[in-house]
Amino acid sequence: MQAVAKIKAGPGLNLIDALIPKPKANELLLKIKACSICGTDVHIYNWENPWDSKIKPPMIIGHEGFGEVVEIGKAVRGWEIGDYASPESHFHCGKCDMCLSGHANVCRNMLGLGMGGANGTYAEYVVVPTKSALKTDKKISPEVGTLQEPFGNAVYTVDEGHVKDKTVAVFGMGPIGIMAIAAAKALGAEMVVGVGGSSIHKELAKKMGADIVIDRKNEAVIERIMEETDNKGIDVFLEMSGAESAIMQGFEAVKKGGSVVLLGLPTKQITIDWSKYLVLKDLAIKGVYGRKIWDTWQLSSELITSGKVDLAKLITHRYKLSEFEKGFEVMKSGNCGKVVMFPK
Ligand code: ZN
Repeated sequence: MQAVAKIKAGPGLNLIDALIPKPKANELLLKIKACSICGTDVHIYNWENPWDSKIKPPMIIGHEGFGEVVEIGKAVRGWEIGDYASPESHFHCGKCDMCLSGHANVCRNMLGLGMGGANGTYAEYVVVPTKSALKTDKKISPEVGTLQEPFGNAVYTVDEGHVKDKTVAVFGMGPIGIMAIAAAKALGAEMVVGVGGSSIHKELAKKMGADIVIDRKNEAVIERIMEETDNKGIDVFLEMSGAESAIMQGFEAVKKGGSVVLLGLPTKQITIDWSKYLVLKDLAIKGVYGRKIWDTWQLSSELITSGKVDLAKLITHRYKLSEFEKGFEVMKSGNCGKVVMFPK
């Protein structure tokens, strides 16, 4: 089968001819109908820290995907040939104390689909353990189906912000930030402000429901947020940027007693005024990692199937899997929403 893999340590990816994998007793074989590129895949392409130590080449890359079940392991129950499924990209063990206490998203023995441990979705076929596969409504198109995984990051973040009837600011308007804007609107936020940079992201954020979009490079962010909130500050700050200066603005913009949910990953240690922001503002602060298995996925598919969130509007580029270099090029330019690829 055709696949895109890291064949040796170093920058770049290659189109390879690989064997179709065989599902083990508790696994499904999915025929991939669509897969999509995440910022993490670009870091993997570039061979940046920490991926240069997590991935042992050769490995097929890709952790966002959607496919049809074409073969079923001997011990599998509750699945049929022809079902549609999306993989949860964090394969949990199901046995450790984290998994047993409802925190499978931070499993101690986690394997990353296409990110270290398991071959990924940039292929015609992939095997997925049934405990890491979500049966997906056939009404969902493959190109939206593959976006359920990143959408889950956004939905988990928004859900932890308890945004109903609140004013919300999303800092960072990459695709997941824009998905968070859409999810916050769908979950009843009174006003959603998107804060970011590039023009295509501002345009997409408006399309996906942002009430106000602030250009971080050219506008006075705090002043504008104070103006829009009668000088009160924002109720909920969702951090999706990982950029130190944006994080500081978010902590400044959030009101006393407000909520902060952190998803963006700074690449270096950052400094914060601990007393001013973390103690004296009396904030509720929550970090999120991945998606709640399966609570987040259920809420995500509800938002998609009900039509409350239309993720298709966020797709700006579509390529054949064999044209993956074009997809990575546009991802590196930053001048895109979601980039979706289709194996032959
Ligand atoms: Zn575990």
